Amino acid sequence: MQKIDLAIIGSGPAGITAGIYALRRNLSIRVFESEAVGGQTAKAVWMENYPGFTRLTGFELMQKMSGHLKMLGVEIEEANAVKKIAKIGNEFELELEDGSKALAKTVLLATGTENKKLNLPGEKELYGRGVSYCANCDGPFCKGKRVAIIGGGNSGVTNALYLSETASKAFLVEFTPELNCDEVYLPLIKKQKNLEVLKNTQVIEVLGKEKVEGIKIKDRKTGKERIIALEGVFFYVGLSPRNELAKQLFGAEIDSKGFVKIDEHMMTTVKGFFAAGDITGNLAQTIWAAAEGAKAALEAYKYVKGILK
Ligand SMILES: Cc1cc2nc3c(=O)[nH]c(=O)nc-3n(C[C@H](O)[C@H](O)[C@H](O)COP(=O)(O)OP(=O)(O)OC[C@H]3O[C@@H](n4cnc5c(N)ncnc54)[C@H](O)[C@@H]3O)c2cc1C
Repeated sequence: MQKIDLAIIGSGPAGITAGIYALRRNLSIRVFESEAVGGQTAKAVWMENYPGFTRLTGFELMQKMSGHLKMLGVEIEEANAVKKIAKIGNEFELELEDGSKALAKTVLLATGTENKKLNLPGEKELYGRGVSYCANCDGPFCKGKRVAIIGGGNSGVTNALYLSETASKAFLVEFTPELNCDEVYLPLIKKQKNLEVLKNTQVIEVLGKEKVEGIKIKDRKTGKERIIALEGVFFYVGLSPRNELAKQLFGAEIDSKGFVKIDEHMMTTVKGFFAAGDITGNLAQTIWAAAEGAKAALEAYKYVKGILK
């Protein structure tokens, strides 16, 4: 089995940027991706805060990033998750979804986060049949229909604005008494006439047999429950770190929130095992993930060359 210098796990902005920087240092790399290229950024409806691009979709930005990596000669291995990882001596052995194995001198964990589930009755059962965690992917199926967006943080609010552009009616449901988004979105929400904001409101159940038919909600002040008839429910209630692989490695420390601990060299508590992007628990933004990916690749280079121990 051919041994590579750096195995990159995840093709979000952290993983792809790490790949670009590693190739500029002549490291041999492979980039493994369990799903499709682009990570969470590819799911962002609009990106308006990545320097150089005033407005483009998250998908477009990630196509540009992965195109850059491809131009340097590396194709991302999509739908080829790293299932298992072990450190044997100074090397890492990775078991891949396609049944093969890979050997690497260093590894970069850039697995990011996944959408939290509320585990409500009906949520799992109706997933893919009206329940979604990605408006960008499933929003087009809700054109002219009634939808609810659960969660009033930045992700929920931006997706509510996006969905209400084409839905006949949209409800933005927030558990706390106020929305938790950036101020910049508040006038936009007010302007969107078919978007109704329900604050201090809890979703109790997703209703429907074959597909979503409604949600049951509770006013947290009055305790009053009611049913809203609709066809689509989009959940944006937070993110959980995808730390399964770190947990498999003996000695890789994880903090109380599930984020992987790193030092000033982006190295975890396992030598040669680096982490970058949302999985480290720093600012969950594309530019930050990209910057961490760049730094991690340069530190991995030093490790491969014996400069960093
Ligand atoms: C809806 C939404 C809107 C957003 N909007 C913005 C915005 O406007 N501006 C901004 O700056 N940021 C935004 N963000 C945040 C930004 O998307 C993230 O901070 C960024 O994508 C994190 O990058 P990452 O590379 O660390 O992880 P991710 O982008 O999460 O990528 C991780 C990748 O690793 C893969 N993976 C996981 N496990 C494995 C495995 N075992 N094997 C192989 N691959 C694996 C995943 O499939 C995923 O593709 C938004 C996020 C969301 C969810």
